[in-house]
Amino acid sequence: MSNNKVPLKFSDIRDLFPREQWDVGFLTKEQLKICAYSPIKGKAQEYGEDYTNNIHFLSIVNSIVLVRHSPDSWEYSLYKEADEILKKADLGEWYPIYTNFKQAAVLSGLGVRAKNSLVYSYRFGFDAKVCVAGFIEEIIPPARAALADLKYWERCANCPDCRVACPAGAIHNEAEPFWLDSGKCDDFIGFGDHPRIPSIKKFWHKFVHPEAPQEEVDKMKALTNLDKELLFDANGYTLDMQTGVLKDGKPAPVPFCRECQAQPRCSKWRGNYPYDAL
Ligand code: SF4
Ligand code: SF4
Repeated sequence: MSNNKVPLKFSDIRDLFPREQWDVGFLTKEQLKICAYSPIKGKAQEYGEDYTNNIHFLSIVNSIVLVRHSPDSWEYSLYKEADEILKKADLGEWYPIYTNFKQAAVLSGLGVRAKNSLVYSYRFGFDAKVCVAGFIEEIIPPARAALADLKYWERCANCPDCRVACPAGAIHNEAEPFWLDSGKCDDFIGFGDHPRIPSIKKFWHKFVHPEAPQEEVDKMKALTNLDKELLFDANGYTLDMQTGVLKDGKPAPVPFCRECQAQPRCSKWRGNYPYDAL
């Protein structure tokens, strides 16, 4: 990272990222503060400087928001991929930022809130993950300011589909305030025993520790401490708390529930997401 004092152009940064894989937005310093002051329910896949659930932060900088096309559930190699792309350019001093990514995507105009609790990316739908990079140098913003849509996606109006489809009964969106029972969702993602829908436990039992007795696996029901309960330590598997599960050092996507993101009204999967590893 060199020390370039010439203002950066947003358009130059945006053009580093191939359009078929990335969407790129801009956050002012004030918008980054709004993201940092929007609480997150829990930290996962932390990467970069922590701008969550606090009052004071390293430095308030202007930033870019990166939305990466990603149909896999648990696979966060986008952080390092974004770093590699940025490192190749002469962009002055920058650093990855961990913040409320949903708020960042909305405020930068790259997506809209949906009633399944996620943000619908205008470019990639629900097949997307988000990261943020902060820049010390001023960025000359896009010519047209993004129009952040702070309301819910109009397609969600009068739609019960994701609530009905959720096998854990975690989605509460019949009436405002809409809310997600994140504990129920997390337990299902981690330890679900549904015959069709995969869970982390099922993947772990099939590929990492097939010798674990089925009756012991059946007793695992609640996700309290994933990295201690499901050890990814055999058959070439390891766990990287930033990227996710690795097999022989490379990202190995672990499939889990996507029922709330696959309904015909809001996705290309027509209500039948193709879980492929189990
Ligand atoms: S199923 Fe899709 S369109 Fe319907 S409320 Fe849920 S997120 Fe919105
Ligand atoms: S991921 Fe599955 S369990 Fe979680 S809210 Fe969506 S449908 Fe429900």
